[in-house]
Amino acid sequence: MENTEIIKALRLCAKSGNIIDYCELGDDNGCLYSDNCGDCIDNLLRAAADALEAAEKRIVELNTKCANLQSQINEMENEIEELMPKRGEWIGIEYDGYADGYPVYDVWECSECGEEHNGEEDTLPNYCPNCGADMRKGEHDEQADS
Ligand SMILES: [Zn+2]
Repeated sequence: MENTEIIKALRLCAKSGNIIDYCELGDDNGCLYSDNCGDCIDNLLRAAADALEAAEKRIVELNTKCANLQSQINEMENEIEELMPKRGEWIGIEYDGYADGYPVYDVWECSECGEEHNGEEDTLPNYCPNCGADMRKGEHDEQADS
């Protein structure tokens, strides 16, 4: 029996106003279960249970799909993060003297990866040779505005 027939049978029974105890419809009025009154309800409940079961399976499928998509999005976000040029700065960590009251650093550390650079301030590279972070000062913001 198709679900549409079950629904039709239930609608017909419902018109009689008492679908649980008995149905006043007979063959002449279109009842599909006149020989075995009550089957319409049984079949409807069975169909409803089947439909619920199928819906629950579908929800599980969709949730799994959703979780997979979310993890793909997370992976893409991580990839984008890696592709974006990082900004960093050289941090002086050792100095060998003072000039005008300020320490003259000769050992520096990348703020992003900890890569060390030996040499005075004018030898610092624009990009960290280890992690590639952009170490230039001040120019980033102007680039972002344009
Ligand atoms: Zn670095």
